Amino acid sequence: MSDTIKTIRGTIGGEPIIYGESVQGLPLEVWLPEKERETHTLIMAGQHGDEAEGPVLLSYALRLIDLADLTCAVIVTANPDGLRYGTRANANGVDLNRNWSTKNWSPEMVIYPQDSENPDDLTLSPGTEPASEPETQALLNLLEDIKPRLVISIHSALGCIDDPHSTPTAKWLSQETGLPLVENIGYPTPGSFGSWAQENGVELITWELPRASLHEIKAKYAPALIGLLTGKA
Ligand SMILES: [Zn+2]
Repeated sequence: MSDTIKTIRGTIGGEPIIYGESVQGLPLEVWLPEKERETHTLIMAGQHGDEAEGPVLLSYALRLIDLADLTCAVIVTANPDGLRYGTRANANGVDLNRNWSTKNWSPEMVIYPQDSENPDDLTLSPGTEPASEPETQALLNLLEDIKPRLVISIHSALGCIDDPHSTPTAKWLSQETGLPLVENIGYPTPGSFGSWAQENGVELITWELPRASLHEIKAKYAPALIGLLTGKA
């Protein structure tokens, strides 16, 4: 067998820590490095349940590596109810990426305007108040607990690496993936995780996967993600 052919496990394995529960009672899970239960980086996906690309890619990369080599904390899906129902929001209809306790949090409904590929407007709640949702509260507690300096949050499908500070890791990721590095996504996002990170001194890189098939995304981006997961970035 060629050295380039790798075996991929059917399950992620390891023993994730349960850091909370979704609205529907599903466990919120985080994988921590086996060697030292201390990490400077959190990689997460699936805050928006209709962006399955992130969880699928992250699971794929995790199943390709030896978990003993993991150097980051990893959340495969931050919104498991959304992923199982195929909804952007959680089971309360809340956009979790507008539910953070930030100075710019707004009670106004979040409207995703129509475009050529999504002909209907989608209107979501930012929550009844900042951090009203159990998924947000649990993630806040986890961040308080593990205190990562860097969070990499995987979304789709804007096709860019978004980092307001253009950090070396973001530049590396942009080079490895061929996705352009941008300092913002061009529209305001009150109550977003990005706003929270900025206010709380946490470096956040938003990795926006492009519009592509799951097969293409796995083939194209797993190497860069494995580099991040194993601390080789
Ligand atoms: Zn998203």
